[in-house]
Parts: sequence; structure tokens; C-alpha cells
Amino acid sequence: MKIKPPVEKNEYYDVVFEDLTHEGAGVAKVEGFPIFVPNALPEEKAQIKVTRVKKGFAFGRLMELKEESPHRTDAPCPIYKQCGGCQLQHMTYEGQLLFKQKQVKDVLERIGKLDLSNVTVHPTLGMEDPWNYRNKAQVPVGEREGGLVAGFYQQRSHDIIDMSACLIQQSKNDEAVQAVKDICAIYGVKAYNEERHKGWLRHIMVRYGVVTGEMMIVFITRTNDFPHKAKIIEDITAKFPHVKSIVQNINPSKTNVIFGNETNVIWGEEYIYDLIGDVKFAISARSFYQVNPEQTKVLYDKALEYAELQGEETVIDAYCGIGTISLFLAKQAKKVYGVEIVPEAIEDAKRNAELNGITNAEFAVGEAETVIPKWYEEGITADTLVVDPPRKGCDEALLRTIIEMKPKRVVYVSCNPGTLARDLRVLEDGGYTTLEVQPVDMFPHTNHVECVAQLVLKEEAGSR
Ligand code: SAH
Repeated sequence: MKIKPPVEKNEYYDVVFEDLTHEGAGVAKVEGFPIFVPNALPEEKAQIKVTRVKKGFAFGRLMELKEESPHRTDAPCPIYKQCGGCQLQHMTYEGQLLFKQKQVKDVLERIGKLDLSNVTVHPTLGMEDPWNYRNKAQVPVGEREGGLVAGFYQQRSHDIIDMSACLIQQSKNDEAVQAVKDICAIYGVKAYNEERHKGWLRHIMVRYGVVTGEMMIVFITRTNDFPHKAKIIEDITAKFPHVKSIVQNINPSKTNVIFGNETNVIWGEEYIYDLIGDVKFAISARSFYQVNPEQTKVLYDKALEYAELQGEETVIDAYCGIGTISLFLAKQAKKVYGVEIVPEAIEDAKRNAELNGITNAEFAVGEAETVIPKWYEEGITADTLVVDPPRKGCDEALLRTIIEMKPKRVVYVSCNPGTLARDLRVLEDGGYTTLEVQPVDMFPHTNHVECVAQLVLKEEAGSR
């Protein structure tokens, strides 16, 4: 039976918004039929116009706001709507933190079937000053009327909009991007043209060690030459004494992937350094490194607290990246084993261990779901197991191994509450109890939510 949707395209409706989607659009219902409307907030009353009707839902546009949410605010960024990098600037920061907590609670109940009378989902830990937090800028370069522009792709297009400041970016990075663009313009540098696959400069990337004050500048270019190299380097380093490293990455392909395979240091050091707490990290042009170090510390401190280490434990850190969590935990554990699929990240992890004089951490390259079962067969088991998987969550084989291995404690760090909820259900069915979930706001003004969850074996939970 074909059910006709209760709304029609181009028609107007008076609605009350109930919720926000993961993308930050308002959700209203007409006869139970959901309509997604950008820029609307829960509890708001508005007239909307339906713009597209699909089988089970529709999209609409906000026409007239009749009652505002107490959490509505004016987005401070002048290019908020064109850019699309942030989704929640029209909501007060307090409102964003509440929304993120609610989102986590909702999916834990709906997808994870967790009974929230037994699991504490804490209020989201936010930033005191939730602006200028990003330590990495990665901006496309283009040409307009003969001059260079550097900024962002306008939403759903490949037109580059020039931008002098991004409000969630470290202002030092904005400054550097502008200056590099201006210096390049002086020497007549040609921007890459995507359609014609001609020109030279594709992207400018800037990384900043917030604690050390060291900066790296990366030119991503189509070819491996570097016109006016000496002059450009001289101008950059004269203007910014905190620049410690200038790198060229060559990407000759017709692709929208930013980086190519060849990376050359053209001036200064291969690495810049930064600290999270008292752990020091060497960051190269291609290393993964958290973009909000202040909140990363908050997240890892929570992971450390949930690990409840006494100094005698063996810990496994699955999906360890450059070993950030492993090194954080190593100081309070007997031994830490980290596993990660990207070989370069493991090289970084080993270097970072050495840099910090940490000798009780061991790192292996491979899939967590293959390496950890192998370790288990070889007799390596963990008292505490930490996972920090990508958005798709943990592999089933890994969850099965955890259930067999029975570490007393599992600390689950997650960037996607949906897959966290799914995996918690599997672990709950396999003998674990989720005690606490702590949402942490790593990316203020965007729709991202990071969480740390603490699980213990049911038999342990009873004796607490
Ligand atoms: N814990 C790290 C990185 C977490 S991001 C930190 O906080 O910095 C998730 C990591 O999982 C990425 O580094 C990614 O390369 C890695 N990864 C993805 N799939 C994997 C798999 N099947 N096995 C091991 N690592 C994997």
C-alpha cells in the first residue's frame, strides 16, 4: 500500500520543532511525518515552506519564526551560512552543550537499548572560551580577477570564497594563511585551477603547537618545482619567527584529496612539537594530531580516570593513532600495548614514546581485530582495554575478543554516539555493564560529539 505523505512541495505549514538532526537541522513533524529545516531550533514555532518531499521525510525552509528558542543567538561569523564548516553557531554555547548531552542519551536508549536509570550520562564538558580552538588550518587556494584567494569552498560548490578569519581557528593560523597568500601573490604564484588541472598552489596548510608556540607551513602544490622559493621562505620566516618548519607536498593528481604522496621539508625542521598535559608530541606534515588540544586533554584525563590505573595493570590501547592515549596511560600502568592500522602513525607513536622517555609502551601495526586476538592467543591479556575507533565503531571480531578476554575495565572513546551505542549493546550482552558516559565538546559550534564511556565486567560491578 502506498501511503501519501501528509505534506506537499511548495506548501506552507505552521510547525513546532521537536529536535535537531545530527547535522544540526531542526526537526518538525506534520501528522508524524518528519520535516528537516536548516537553522531551526527545538521548541521554536515557525512557518515553513516544504522544498522537497521524499518517501519517509521532507525538507523545508524557515519562512517566519513565530516563537524563538531561549537558546537562539546571532551567529557571530559573517560567513556562517555560506561556509557550512560550523552547524550550531545560531545556538548559544550552553544550548549546544545541552543538545549534545541529549543526543548521546537519545541514541544510547534508542540504539543501545541502555536503561539510563543505571547509566550516568554526564553534562557535556565544554570549553570556557569556545572560539579560536583549531590548531590546524587547511585552505584551498584559487584565483579571482587575477589575484589569489584562500578560504573555503562555498557549500555544495567548488567556488573558493576568500576568508580573512575563521572564528574557530587559532588567530595565529588565520594570520599565517593570509600572510602566505599575500607573499605568494607578490611573486606572481599561480593558484591551481581544478577544472583545467593547471596552475601550481592547491592548498596552504598551517599547524600550530599551541603550548610550544611552534608553527609549520605546508605548501600543497601540483608540481615539484617551487618558483621564487628562496624569496618566499625569506619573507615568511622574517615575518613569523615562530615558524620552525616549511614543507612542500606534491599532489599531481586530478582529485579532491588534498595531499599527494611526496612530502619534502624545504626549510627548517621536519617536526614541530606540542604538549598535551606533560606528554610531548612530534608532529610532521602528515601526522594525525588532535585539532583541539585543550579539549583533548579533558578527554584523555577522563579516559585516564575511567581506566582507574593503580600502576600494576596491563593496558591495551586499540586504534591508538600516534599513541596519544597510550602514552597518557603508560605513566600509570605497568605496560601498554598500542595497535593501529597506519604504519606512519605507529612510527610516530614509537618516536613519541622515546621523546618522553616512556619504555613500557609497545606498538604494533595492524588491524585491531586481527592483532588483539593474536595477542590473546599468545597469552597477552589486558586488565584495562581502551578503544578509540573511527566513526564506524569497533569491528565485531574485536568486540568478540574483548568479551572472551574479559578485561576488568573497558574504556570506550568514541567520535560517533550511534556506533558507540551499538557497540555498548554488544558488550552489555557479553557480560559488561556501562557505568558512566561523559560527552566532551571537542568541536564547539559543529555537530560533532565525542564521548568516553566506562564499562566494567558485571561480576566486578557487583562487588563495587
Ligand atoms: N587514539 C588516537 C586516534 C584515534 S582515531 C588519538 O586519540 O589520537 C582512530 C584511529 O584508528 C585512526 O588512527 C585510524 O587510522 C585507526 N584505525 C582505523 N581502522 C583501524 C583498524 N581496523 N585497526 C586499527 N586501527 C584502525
